Amino acid sequence: MDGSAAVEVVRIDDLDVRVQVSERRRHVRLTVERDAAVTATVPPGTGRAELVKLVRSRRRWLYGKLAERQALGEARPERQYVSGEGFPYLGRSHRLLIVPEGPADVRLLRGRLELGRHCLDDPVRALIGWYTRRGTDWLPDRLRPWAERMDTACGEVRVLPLGFRWGSCSLRGHLNIHWATMQLPPDLIDYVLVHELAHLQVPDHSERFWRRVERTLPDYTARRERLKRLGHDLWLPSESGGSDITSPRRG
Ligand SMILES: [Zn+2]
Repeated sequence: MDGSAAVEVVRIDDLDVRVQVSERRRHVRLTVERDAAVTATVPPGTGRAELVKLVRSRRRWLYGKLAERQALGEARPERQYVSGEGFPYLGRSHRLLIVPEGPADVRLLRGRLELGRHCLDDPVRALIGWYTRRGTDWLPDRLRPWAERMDTACGEVRVLPLGFRWGSCSLRGHLNIHWATMQLPPDLIDYVLVHELAHLQVPDHSERFWRRVERTLPDYTARRERLKRLGHDLWLPSESGGSDITSPRRG
């Protein structure tokens, strides 16, 4: 037993807060979960008034976190793995077509996204594998001209699940791109790439960073807004989220 008690949900203003009592905690800890739920882990004996006061004092932070979670973190309707269901790829929706065993698990043929019947025991894995392979093939050529234009030496591109982030970069100059990025229209993928390339030069989101992005993409704010809205239409199965970290604006 870890001392955790049952969870209750408390409505505070317009927020539903899941309250979990933990004997190991000395202070209230607020977290915004991957599904944009707010959780308060509290020490035993924490009163409601105390919790309300704390939540109100951290309102700005909470709203900021909730806004960040909108794009990739928001719960979206689960897709069905049946013929006719739509899956986005490079900004266009393609109907799924379940096919008898063929040469590939998944392939895009004549506008249909074919999924082999033998993959139906784990269609999520098969589809993520396909997006990942498409990204691994497609992204390096797309990245190269941007890297040249921004005068940035960039290492390899790795396509993988990144939780709520579109992209991240490593100190050694590698770019990590979320496989779900391959569902976006190419001009928004460019924004994700330019954003990460700019991070190779400026690690934070300072004025200097955004000026760097703007010099390369003068319309970056419009792209960033579209990216936020489009996040809702993507296919992002809950099993694939990975870590529960941070902001889709990272990429
Ligand atoms: Zn960033």
